[in-house]
Amino acid sequence: MSALDASVVEGRTLSGAHRLTCDVVVVGTGAAGATVAVTLADAGWDVVMLEEGARLRESEFTANLWKTMKTLFRDLGASFLEGRSFIPVLQGRCVGGGTVINSAIVWRVPEDVHGVWLRRDPGLAAGIPYADLERHWAVLERDLGVAPTDDAIRGHNSRLLALAAERLGYRGRVIPRNVVGCEGQALCLQGCPNGRKQSTAVTYVPRALRAGARLFTDARVDRVVTEGGRASGVQATLLGGDPERPATLEVTARRAVVLAASALQSPGILLKSGLDRLGPVGQHFMCHPGVSMVGVYDAPVDLWSGATQGYEIDHFRPERMKIESIALPPELMALRMPGVGQKLARWLPLARHMALWGAQVRSRAEGQVRLGGTGVRVRFTQTAEDLVTIRLGLRVCAEACFASGARSVLPGIHGLPEELTSMDEVTRWLDRVTDVRQLNMIATHLFGTLRMGTHPDDAVVNPFGEAHRLPRLYVADSSVFPSNLGVNPQHTIMGVARQIAEHVLARA
Ligand SMILES: Cc1cc2nc3c(=O)[nH]c(=O)nc-3n(C[C@H](O)[C@H](O)[C@H](O)COP(=O)(O)OP(=O)(O)OC[C@H]3O[C@@H](n4cnc5c(N)ncnc54)[C@H](O)[C@@H]3O)c2cc1C
Ligand code: SF4
Repeated sequence: MSALDASVVEGRTLSGAHRLTCDVVVVGTGAAGATVAVTLADAGWDVVMLEEGARLRESEFTANLWKTMKTLFRDLGASFLEGRSFIPVLQGRCVGGGTVINSAIVWRVPEDVHGVWLRRDPGLAAGIPYADLERHWAVLERDLGVAPTDDAIRGHNSRLLALAAERLGYRGRVIPRNVVGCEGQALCLQGCPNGRKQSTAVTYVPRALRAGARLFTDARVDRVVTEGGRASGVQATLLGGDPERPATLEVTARRAVVLAASALQSPGILLKSGLDRLGPVGQHFMCHPGVSMVGVYDAPVDLWSGATQGYEIDHFRPERMKIESIALPPELMALRMPGVGQKLARWLPLARHMALWGAQVRSRAEGQVRLGGTGVRVRFTQTAEDLVTIRLGLRVCAEACFASGARSVLPGIHGLPEELTSMDEVTRWLDRVTDVRQLNMIATHLFGTLRMGTHPDDAVVNPFGEAHRLPRLYVADSSVFPSNLGVNPQHTIMGVARQIAEHVLARA
C-alpha cells in the first residue's frame, strides 16, 4: 500500500511529486466541502478531499488566541475587505473550515429571500427548489443535533437581550445551534475544546472517511486542470514541508471536480487557473458586515459564561439587519473596550459588568475578488443605504441595552464619545456617523462570487451547480448564492451543498 492510499495523509509528511486518480475531488472540508464529500462517499463514490489547513484534535484547541489564529484561521485572522474602509474578514483554514470557529447558529434561508432568487431567475427552481432544501435541512438538523440553546447554558448576556426584546416588543428567538451537550464556555471562536460543537471536523469529515473517502491535509489547490473542454482534476501544493522544494499532488477526477473552498478562495482558484472566461468569476461579492455595541450594567453580566451566541432579535430582518448576543472570553472582550493604556485600564475592572451585542447588516453593496499578493484581494465599499442600516443596527443595540437596565453604552465608533448615557445622546451622536471609516466592522458571512443562474453571461454555474462553460466542474459553497441572505449562512450552505451533491450523483 502506498502512502497515498491511507485514509488521512498529512501533506507536510510527503516530498516530491505525487499523482492519484479518483471519482471526484472535493476542494475544502468546511460547511460545503464536507457535506458534498459525505453525500458522494455514502453513495459509494471514490472521493478525495483536499484541505489547505491542518487537522486538529479537540485537545489541540486552546484558549490561547495567538495559537488559535495561527492554526485555525486564514492569514492569522488578518485578511481585509479593501474599500473606503478596511473590514477584517475571518475565515477558517483547517479541516472543518469555518464550521470549527463559528458560533453554531442555525438558520434555514427564509422563504422570502429564496423567493426573490426565483423571481429574478425562475430557472433556479429546477436546481434548488425550496422543498428539496427543506428535505436536506431536516437531515442536517438530525445529523448535527440542532436545537434551541438550552436555558441552563444561555448565559446572562443572552438573557439580557431576551429581556430587552420583550420590553421593547421586538420579535426575537432563542438561537438554535448545532451543538450536543454544549457547556456554555463561550470558546466557539477558538474551536470547541470539548468537541460539543458539531463542526464538520467532528461530523461529516470523519463520516466520509468511514465511508471510504480519503483526506489530504496541508494541500493547497492552485489550479483546476482541464482536458478536452472539461474539468479533469486539480493541482495542489503540499504545505509545511521543505519550502524550497514543496511537494505537489495532482489529482485526476473521473467524474467531477467540486470546488468548496469558500466564496473568496473558490473564485481565487479559478482566477489562478486562468479560467476567468467561465463568466463573472469573482464579481458580485456580497457579505454581512457586523458592528457591535457594549452595554455597561450595575450588576455583573460575566459575558464569557454561556453559549457563544444564545439569543437574537430578527424583528428588523425586513430592514436588512439582525441583532445577536455575542459572548467572548475576557481577552477578546478587552479588545472591544475603548482606548489603550490608561484609558483602557479605566474600563478593564468593569469587564464583568459588560454585555456585547452585534448587528449583522445585509448590505446591498457588491464587491469583487481579484488575485493579489499570494492570495486574493477583495474590493468592497458599502453604499449610503448600507450606512443608514448600520446606524439603525447600532441604535437598536443601544436601545436594547438601556431597555434591559444598562447604565451606559460604549459605541466604539471613531469621532463619538467613549461612553453614552442615554438614548437621546445615542440618537444625536449616531447622526454624526456619516462615513463608514468611523466604524469598526467585521465580516464573516461571504457570498456570490461564482453565482448560480440560467444564463452563462450572467452566472458561472447553472442551477445544478455545474459551470456553464466547463462541464464536470461544480461549485458547492456560498460563491453560488445569487445574493446575501440576511441570516447566518452555514445551514443554507450545507443544504445547497447537499442538493448539488445529488445533482453531481445524477449527472456526472
Ligand atoms: C467567526 C465566525 C463565526 C461564524 N458564525 C456563524 C454561525 O454561528 N452560524 C452560521 O451559519 N455561520 C457562521 N459563520 C459563517 C460560516 O462559518 C461560513 O459561512 C461557512 O463556514 C462557509 O462555508 P464554506 O464551505 O463556504 O467555507 P469554509 O467553511 O470556510 O470552508 C472552506 C475550506 O476550504 C479550505 N480551502 C480554501 N482554499 C483552499 C485551497 N486553495 N485548497 C484547499 N483547501 C482550501 C479552507 O481551508 C476551508 O477549510 C461564521 C464564520 C466565522 C468566521
Ligand atoms: S459554547 Fe463552549 S462548549 Fe458550547 S459549543 Fe461553544 S465552545 Fe463548545
